[in-house]
This record gives sequence, structure tokens and C-alpha cells, in this order.
Amino acid sequence: MKTVTVNIVTPDGPVYDSEVTMVIAKTTSGEIGVLPGHIPMVAPLAIGAVKLKKEDGSTELAAVGGGFIEVRPEKISILAPSAEVASTIDLARAKAAVTRAEERLQKKQDNIDFKRADLSLKRALNRINVHEGNI
Ligand code: ATP
Repeated sequence: MKTVTVNIVTPDGPVYDSEVTMVIAKTTSGEIGVLPGHIPMVAPLAIGAVKLKKEDGSTELAAVGGGFIEVRPEKISILAPSAEVASTIDLARAKAAVTRAEERLQKKQDNIDFKRADLSLKRALNRINVHEGNI
């Protein structure tokens, strides 16, 4: 089966580097599935899960906090402000972030606070879903 190298890189460093048979990612305009040999493309990512299908039939999951996917025929790079593979997600931390964000959203302060709390909530819920494989 053909494979393609996938790197996920954040400002804190690389979080994933492996050969996969398919990548499914959530762009800001919808979900895309990318196979080896895909034509070059760059797309902005939404906060969401990245599914990494392996040659042995298994699927790995990563939570990404936005950023970009850059596709080349032999390599796919995901550059994200934050990203965690499922096994490294701290569930208690994500749940605490949900509680904090929901409290801030209920206070309904200015628009900036609202937007920040909303994004924080989306990141935390995404982490919980990826950790639980619930995507
Ligand atoms: P928190 O409020 O818990 O810090 P956050 O959404 O504000 O969450 P980010 O700014 O997106 O956090 O990420 C900061 C760093 O912390 C990144 O390296 C990210 O991978 C890591 N991180 C955040 N939440 C978790 C988590 N629940 N499990 C593992 N790593 C996490």
C-alpha cells in the first residue's frame, strides 16, 4: 500500500512524524481526506481532530488547535498553534478548561473575552473528544 510521511509541528516542537496511508483533517471549509501522491495544496485548519490511517489498518488521532495543512505528493505537514496526539492529552486539564471557559462565557463580558473563551472551549472539547476517540 502506498504511504506518505506526515509531520505535525507546533511552536513547542514536533508532535508527530510517521508514514500513513491517508490523512483526514478538518479545514475551515470542511473535512478533507488526503492520499499519497496528492497534488500540492495549502489549506487553513479548524480546531478539530486529525485522523491518521496507518498501513496496518489502525487509526491514530490528534487534536489540533487550527493552523495549516500543507500537502505535497510525498509529504504532508500540519503546522498548528497547538497539537496533541490522543495518548498525550491530559483529560483532567481539558475538563478544567471547559469549566473555566463556560464560566467566562456566562459572564458575558466584552467581545474579546467572549471570543477567547469560545476558542478555549472549542480546543478543550476537541481534546476531550480526541482523547475518548469520540469523533
Ligand atoms: P489550558 O487552558 O489548559 O492551558 P489551552 O487551550 O489554553 O488550555 P493551548 O494554549 O492551546 O492551551 O496550549 C498550550 C500548550 O498546552 C500546548 O503545548 C498544548 O499542546 C498543551 N495542552 C493544552 N491543553 C492540554 C491537554 N489537555 N493535554 C495535553 N496538552 C495540553
